[in-house]
Amino acid sequence: MSKKYADIIIDISHEAIDRSFQYEIPKALEEQVQIGTQVVIPFGKGNHPRKGYVTGISEQPAYDEHRIKQITEVVKRSVAAPNKLIALAAWIRETYGSTMIQALKTVLPVKKTVKASAYTASALLDDTSMNGKPEIVLNPAQQSIVDRFASDLESDRHHTYLLHGVTGSGKTEIYVRAIEKVVAKHKQAIVLIPEIALTYQTVRYFRAYFHDRVTVINSRLSAGEKYDQFMKAKKGEVDVVIGPRSALFAPFEHLGLIIIDEEHENSYKSEYPPRYHARETAIKRAQLEGASVILGSATPSVESYQKAMNGEYVLWTLPERASGGALAETSVVDLREELRRGNRSVISSELASDIRDRLDKKQQIMLFINKRGYNSFISCRNCGEALKCPHCDVSLTKHQGNRLLCHYCGYSMIQPDICPSCKSRLIGGYGTGTQKVEEEIHRLFPDAATIRMDKDTTSVKNAHERLLEQFENREADILIGTQMIVKGHDFSNVTLVGILLADLTLFHNDYRAGERTFDLLAQAAGRAGRGRIPGKVVIQSYQPEHYAIVSAAKQDYRMFYESEYAYRQMMKYPPVWNMMVILLTSKEELLLDAEAGLLADKLKLIFAEDGQMQMIGPSVPVIAKIKDIYRRVVYVKHNRYNKLVEIKDYTEVYIEQQKLDEQINVIFDFNPMNIY
Ligand code: ADP
Ligand code: ZN
Ligand code: ZN
Repeated sequence: MSKKYADIIIDISHEAIDRSFQYEIPKALEEQVQIGTQVVIPFGKGNHPRKGYVTGISEQPAYDEHRIKQITEVVKRSVAAPNKLIALAAWIRETYGSTMIQALKTVLPVKKTVKASAYTASALLDDTSMNGKPEIVLNPAQQSIVDRFASDLESDRHHTYLLHGVTGSGKTEIYVRAIEKVVAKHKQAIVLIPEIALTYQTVRYFRAYFHDRVTVINSRLSAGEKYDQFMKAKKGEVDVVIGPRSALFAPFEHLGLIIIDEEHENSYKSEYPPRYHARETAIKRAQLEGASVILGSATPSVESYQKAMNGEYVLWTLPERASGGALAETSVVDLREELRRGNRSVISSELASDIRDRLDKKQQIMLFINKRGYNSFISCRNCGEALKCPHCDVSLTKHQGNRLLCHYCGYSMIQPDICPSCKSRLIGGYGTGTQKVEEEIHRLFPDAATIRMDKDTTSVKNAHERLLEQFENREADILIGTQMIVKGHDFSNVTLVGILLADLTLFHNDYRAGERTFDLLAQAAGRAGRGRIPGKVVIQSYQPEHYAIVSAAKQDYRMFYESEYAYRQMMKYPPVWNMMVILLTSKEELLLDAEAGLLADKLKLIFAEDGQMQMIGPSVPVIAKIKDIYRRVVYVKHNRYNKLVEIKDYTEVYIEQQKLDEQINVIFDFNPMNIY
């Protein structure tokens, strides 16, 4: 019998050994060692025991047979992953830039030895007591979507479908019906849901259909608990795995469908290397395993909608609420006008009179103030303009010493005293938080009971759920909160939603500001009038003519998309072009500055000649230093993604050849979701 050899990636995240090594598989271990198995091997001159993953098996020794060492043992309870997950890891490594071991650790479920967690399997996992709901009869729009899916499945056609359905249009019902079809063919499904939307309600919906054939992964599970759920998937004991981003790697043997709900959410992009996007990675996994993908959203990402427009994805639309109820009426209040009429309160006169009306009718109200980006930009209350970078068309960020800085290109200016557009002196940052809003409400409506939800009031365990429950039980008239109140909660008695300063997201300092604003406004609008009584949304803004606000007020996604796409096209932002962040970090600031500059020059020299590359930086990121490690960023834009991958590969080699890898660490981020 011939000998067998395994290619093994050593479990150390270091570029220098980011390649596989060949080891002999001892006869006794032959059955256990498969692609994906975790093993112990002697490594280096001292033959130190190291862990590694098997990435390939062959009968050919790569070099002198006698010098090939043997695998020592198989790590107990490690799971051999299907080959396809290894292939997916290789794709992740290549596409997003990381070491192979980081990529493997992302896709392979490994039993970690951890202390038993105090928090055992959550209530979400235990509850199998559901009796099933009254049978829902699909409406014609839903039915034709499910029929299309069924016929594609029947004839083995696999697509990525983009389900664009307004809030409450019955997308979840489509998901469960599609999964039923898949399960009927003895295949399995993964459902990704952003952690924040992974509520008891959602899980109950799936339980009603799939009972104990569905399992839930959430971040509160210990590594061991998560591993056990993954094992159920592997053994075919469940048909459906629901969870946030990492549930994408559930090791099903016969994957038929991946669903990504709220596909536009930022949380689908990993913030740690490898910085993969779950949407792109899901589509890759589906392609490798012959599965389909359904992306669902009321406000699709510009990326996905573009692909639906050019035919790469199949577009499905649900323009109406499943219950037949009307979408909320929307009204935009111009805060500049309010100011001119002498109202300096954060509550406009229209909103105030609506609040009075609802209080008298014993209906409930949600007031929403987005804290993100709060006070970090400068804008004019007279004309509504924010101070922007002349090169990048994003808002400048306020720094110490009255400096305003662009975090893409490093452009800076001293904060002016008068507005450059209208010469008004009413220029500055916003100074309102949830607490001030609550005080103002008590001043205007002494009879109203309020609940405030923000970082301060929800830091205690379970406070979040408790406050929402109190509101649901009508213990308060008005819920005041940050973005945490916008997502996923249905209160049938809420008939008025007020968005106090829509501009706080609009003037965020990156190119996705418009998209975020539209999302947030559309989601907030989705909160109003979920019951029988029609709802109203009041959007207050200093720049009500901005396309994101106009289109959100009209609840017209297509209108938003067209303006947003034109902006991305003009400024060469994703998805029209692609963007890669090269983040360089070092303890030595002088060295870092010098080398970042040299690298940027070198890249320009080599890659800029075709005129299809733009480079910004090196510049100092928002957080210039973390724990005495200095940071610099280079933004590279190119119309072709593959070219950015080439630039990444080149940079890796360059850093190694210049012998800089000891002093400078390099991280890549493709089409980043956040500003650096
Ligand atoms: P979405 O995910 O699109 O925001 P949901 O799936 O939560 O919407 O559906 C909203 C509500 O409408 C749910 O209570 C759901 O049970 C109900 N629903 C879905 N489809 C139908 C239908 N065809 N007829 C009646 N109610 C429906
Ligand atoms: Zn002005
Ligand atoms: Zn700039």
